[in-house]
Amino acid sequence: MELGGIHHVTAVTGDAGLNVAFYTGALGLRLVKKTVNQDDVSAYHLFYGDEIGHPGTEMTFFDWSRIGPHVPGTGTISSTAFRVPDYAALEWWVERFRELDVAHEDIEERNGRATLRFTDPEGQRLELVHDEAEGVPGGTPWEKSPVPRETFIRGLDSVELTLKNLSSTSRVITDVMGFRQAEEYEEGGQKVATFEVGLGGPGARVRLVERPDLPIHRFVGAGGVHHVAFRTPDEEEHAAWRERLAKAGLGVTPVIDRYYFKSIYFREPGGVLFEIATDGPGFATDEAAEHLGETLSLPPFLEGQRRQIESNLRPIPLVGGGVSR
Ligand code: ZN
Repeated sequence: MELGGIHHVTAVTGDAGLNVAFYTGALGLRLVKKTVNQDDVSAYHLFYGDEIGHPGTEMTFFDWSRIGPHVPGTGTISSTAFRVPDYAALEWWVERFRELDVAHEDIEERNGRATLRFTDPEGQRLELVHDEAEGVPGGTPWEKSPVPRETFIRGLDSVELTLKNLSSTSRVITDVMGFRQAEEYEEGGQKVATFEVGLGGPGARVRLVERPDLPIHRFVGAGGVHHVAFRTPDEEEHAAWRERLAKAGLGVTPVIDRYYFKSIYFREPGGVLFEIATDGPGFATDEAAEHLGETLSLPPFLEGQRRQIESNLRPIPLVGGGVSR
């Protein structure tokens, strides 16, 4: 039994309209599902990904309009990296970020890997890296994306965890979750270790950064990451993961049916919220593939409350005029 890499990353926005405009208009991802946060139905849950939101390509957002800005610290996911096909694609993205006035740095070698760091309009820390190895198969470009195929974001590459110390998190992700250590190095005087799982490489790695100087993180606001989810192929292995995590004393939740996948959650000892999610059934279960994300989707158990839920949601202004709910 092995995890298949990163399933999705879920972050927080305070402005759904700005969020949709950036992730679809600037980054060229597809809005594959517009639904509500099942634990707080007054908030949208927006899913972006490749043509149908294959697992491993999804960046998702809870829309909490009255939340304050994110406060950085330890026990957080401090950066999310996306993968693009090659180095030329990174150069193309630098130009695009210049044109669209997206805050970004120069392409920089980080432990031998060319990296382009940038932020979304709310300060969400993001990176683009190019696939130096195949790793987990990348996603399929959405044919209506404003970004050309050759430079399309193929999915998630990795996440960075900032931690007080690396030892307890390293132990859990290796001994319990089956990751193996790939690299260990210093960057800017900080200890960094990377770990891989399954096929390894793009889509299947995490980077741990030790920052004993930073305060412990208490609050995920707009521009911060809420959790990262890892992939498991089916419900049988999902149940077995739950058992393994419970046996390791990790305080895992019961299996929760998110309708598009099944989920379990636990907090790793460094404070970061982890999820393990099934690859299926996916986003085309309640909408035709060609119309994903165009209207508000609700799982069957919330369908009866649709009118009330819709009346509590703020319409999302659309790029180019109009609104959508
Ligand atoms: Zn999740």
